[in-house]
Amino acid sequence: MINTDVLIIGAGPTGLFCAHQLGIIGLKCEIVDNLDKIGGQCIELYPDKPIYDIPAIPECTGEELTNKLIKQIKPFNFKFHLNDRVQEIRNENEKWTVKTLNGKEFLTPNIVIAGGVGSFEPRKFPTKNCEKFEGKTVLYSIKDKNMFKDKKVVIFGGGDSALDWAIELSKNSKVTLIHRRDEFRGVSSSVEKLKELESEKKLELFTKYSIKDVKGNEKLESVEIKNEEGQSKIIATDYVLGFFGLIMQLGPILDWGLNTDKKTIPVNTENFETNKKGIFAIGDICSYPGKLKLILSGFHEGALAARGCFKYARPNEKYRFEFTTASKNVKDRLGIKE
Ligand SMILES: Cc1cc2nc3c(=O)[nH]c(=O)nc-3n(C[C@H](O)[C@H](O)[C@H](O)COP(=O)(O)OP(=O)(O)OC[C@H]3O[C@@H](n4cnc5c(N)ncnc54)[C@H](O)[C@@H]3O)c2cc1C
Repeated sequence: MINTDVLIIGAGPTGLFCAHQLGIIGLKCEIVDNLDKIGGQCIELYPDKPIYDIPAIPECTGEELTNKLIKQIKPFNFKFHLNDRVQEIRNENEKWTVKTLNGKEFLTPNIVIAGGVGSFEPRKFPTKNCEKFEGKTVLYSIKDKNMFKDKKVVIFGGGDSALDWAIELSKNSKVTLIHRRDEFRGVSSSVEKLKELESEKKLELFTKYSIKDVKGNEKLESVEIKNEEGQSKIIATDYVLGFFGLIMQLGPILDWGLNTDKKTIPVNTENFETNKKGIFAIGDICSYPGKLKLILSGFHEGALAARGCFKYARPNEKYRFEFTTASKNVKDRLGIKE
């Protein structure tokens, strides 16, 4: 059981800045995110796109903003739990017990939900049999490419992820790429490289085909594909990979007994607390009159929620407002020597 002052759900820009504000006022937090990386929508949806409306930063990309936010909380050494989803929460003796999909448990007086538009989940194969092999030989992301060395790999998809992995894995594996259309959505340089590898017989390509079924009992043996004319082919394989993009799902957050309104969580604007004591909601997921779904609003909401957490984390202390420019406490917490 991990004890902490605050558990933050979501490592998007709002969750990250809220962590900074908690550190500044002397509270500890742990941060859980379903994604395998920090940054939320900024890193998952537009890492290379310039943002022009972050106060005092005339222009920066989603990735640059994320890196700056990570740097800003570095002095506090907060722990991230990535690739994990907060699944269940329970209230006991004025504290919240929080359980994740991977079996981690946290005990905390405060939960800050900075879950944006929900957790990003891979779009999966519609084929029921795939579930049997999911996470083992039917995969939607790659953590260690070495596991595919000298293996047969069938990749489905026509976007950048499918193309990049087909090209990369073809160096050491027998790769077949399958896409339901003739045209690819990936960048033209990758499409050219793919065609080159196909003509050199370093990779096999089937277009206008989609998955029909996977076969195998204990072990995956083959995948059956079909085209619009109803013709099918069976390809022997060790792994099947699907790269069809991500969908966002509010998922378990909707089951926690919180008031919700059109997939958002209404909050009061004094401290961004929800209808449950000790549960706060900030960023894209919260709603109140005049809410703007902008990063700068999320920063302000995180600052107030952090102060809201203080009274439950330190019930016997009074929160004292301090400027970072003047406070010795703050400078000590940031490790600044004068
Ligand atoms: C293409 C595009 C361009 C944009 N441009 C701008 C712009 O120019 N300026 C601007 O201000 N805003 C812009 N935005 C909006 C901005 O990205 C969002 O307002 C911002 O990302 C919201 O931050 P957040 O931290 O609230 O949520 P998110 O960034 O969505 O992060 C939420 C995180 O929570 C995680 N999560 C959710 N549920 C769970 C769970 N149960 N367990 C674990 N993790 C969970 C998700 O995986 C995600 O990483 C843009 C958005 C898009 C899509």
